[in-house]
Amino acid sequence: MPKAKPVPEGPPHPVHRPATFLELGAMTEGEARTYLEAVRWPEGPACPHCGCVDVSRLGGAAAARGVLKCRGCRKQFTVTVGTIFHGTHVPLRKWLLAFHIVCASKKSVSAHQLHRQMKVTYKTAWFLAHRIRHALGHDPLDGGLLEGVVEVDETYIGGKPRRSNRAADRKPPKGTGPGGTKKAPVMVLVERSGRVKANHVRLASAVEAARQIGKHVHPLARLNTDESRIYVKVGRKWKGGHETVEHAREYVAEPRPGHKVHINTAESFNSLFKRAHTGAWHHVSTTHLQKYANEVQFRWNHRDMSDEQRTVMALAQGDGARLAYAAAD
Ligand SMILES: [Zn+2]
Repeated sequence: MPKAKPVPEGPPHPVHRPATFLELGAMTEGEARTYLEAVRWPEGPACPHCGCVDVSRLGGAAAARGVLKCRGCRKQFTVTVGTIFHGTHVPLRKWLLAFHIVCASKKSVSAHQLHRQMKVTYKTAWFLAHRIRHALGHDPLDGGLLEGVVEVDETYIGGKPRRSNRAADRKPPKGTGPGGTKKAPVMVLVERSGRVKANHVRLASAVEAARQIGKHVHPLARLNTDESRIYVKVGRKWKGGHETVEHAREYVAEPRPGHKVHINTAESFNSLFKRAHTGAWHHVSTTHLQKYANEVQFRWNHRDMSDEQRTVMALAQGDGARLAYAAAD
């Protein structure tokens, strides 16, 4: 895996020291809440209703539930209001552990494994994993448009895992009816030495390729793809240039000394994605495919951090993912 670029500048580190897995495991519910508050509110609590920072803590029984009151709008709130943790029956300390497990598992984790490790039902484990993946799609530090050399490739995920066979993988899906493939295409755009954006698309087509590249790639970035027809049109008028590698013949083209054309970085990402599918997830439905993509993308983009730091980053995103989860499920 290539070395990551420095993480783009973002908010100050939200907690003084990220907790280790053992520390998370030993937390009481109150400590877990305090920890989440430190992550979400590095500069002190802010009202999720009106943004006001003039807030006070309620005393008595409400204190144990971490209830605060806004002096601006007079409404009450806790650290979980408006986040993916909102309205959950799962203890916060289990959420923190689940975040850590997902963020630290390079080859991902199955709902079955979460179910066994966390002592929650399978259904709860599945739900936790999906909410976490949903949050990981809202990365405030994703750094904007991809720059430099950007490798673009498609990969097909889902259906029955099969032996890695490049030629077979690249065949377009043969319809989605009975007997057709259940695999769904993901467009993978990756900086040669940096960040990745992986997006589930309905169809890996020229129109979709142009849309994805236009949306995620800096106009002056140089595109590298294989010779698939879907990149011809967008590549022809791409300002930063477009070069292709002919896979049947070679993995790296070198049109002039030192100038390398390849999509090996995209392929490393794709193989990570596939390994997670065959090794941990087993079944990935098209409906949830983007969430799985979020997960692999997040670990890749923050691969130079420690597992503890990556977990803190992910927890902070529970905030970014405040849109009604039900709508996205
Ligand atoms: Zn308020």
